[in-house]
Amino acid sequence: MAMTSMDWSSAAACRGSEGSLFYSADSAERKEDRVERELLAKRICAGCGVREDCLRAALDRHETYGIWGGLNEFERRALTRVV
Ligand code: SF4
Repeated sequence: MAMTSMDWSSAAACRGSEGSLFYSADSAERKEDRVERELLAKRICAGCGVREDCLRAALDRHETYGIWGGLNEFERRALTRVV
């Protein structure tokens, strides 16, 4: 059965997780802290059953910040340049 628009979000592995893992809480976040934070978030994404839906939604909405579908904003931008 196909999921509609945002139905996938109810199956998100990140539900209940710290939002601060997926978004920087501090614009002055050190690079090392960002890398570590994003690795923790991406680990959750790696086991998420709706990862493709999440990434597609983020690409469709041109999400500017955060980890979506296991990719940060720079990785998503690079992906759209390739596709
Ligand atoms: S792919 Fe990551 S950000 Fe997207 S719903 Fe799953 S756990 Fe959350």
